[in-house]
Amino acid sequence: MHVELLDTLRCPAPHEGSWLVATASRTEGRYLIEGTLGCPVCGAEYAIRDGAAWFGERDAAQGIAGAIKSEDEVTRLAALLGFDERGGLFLLEGTVAAMGEALADVSPARFILHAPPDQTPGHAIIRGAGDLVPLAEGILRGAAISRASGPLAAAAVRALALKGRLVAPADTPVPEGITILARDERNWVGERDAVVSQPVGLTRRR
Ligand SMILES: [Zn+2]
Repeated sequence: MHVELLDTLRCPAPHEGSWLVATASRTEGRYLIEGTLGCPVCGAEYAIRDGAAWFGERDAAQGIAGAIKSEDEVTRLAALLGFDERGGLFLLEGTVAAMGEALADVSPARFILHAPPDQTPGHAIIRGAGDLVPLAEGILRGAAISRASGPLAAAAVRALALKGRLVAPADTPVPEGITILARDERNWVGERDAVVSQPVGLTRRR
């Protein structure tokens, strides 16, 4: 976990969004390799192990990185996410996270990898979060998910900036707050159109 991306993380527990306090037991350069992330609101602690932030016990089996990194696939995903010279922060979930390194080669964007396949390198890796997206609201320019999960898509929307793009498998339920821009047999791509209501139990305080 690159130290510059630590402040994008938020406690996923059902309380108002809170940043996490990092305690490092091992670092390499600007990377936190082993340590803990503590929530000052609910007291939850999340481990950083082998450079990845763990928000739950395990990820679903994903295979190993490298299986789907063809150049055509990378170009396609870059187009769907609307990459340009502005860069920005993007979330890649599941098998598409295997394309993070190749995407970083063609864009100034930065990536947060959510449940990537084993052995996927990355600046920021989140594991064990399931359908949760433990990130600050409105910070992503785009997100691509690999699983047709309605809860995961809805969680990703909350982390998107206005006009931020969400790419999802074609059979994913379209969450509130997304306007579909395009659709084919594999994916739909939409953009965040407006304010999204909060999940039950969360209140916004500004
Ligand atoms: Zn908390």
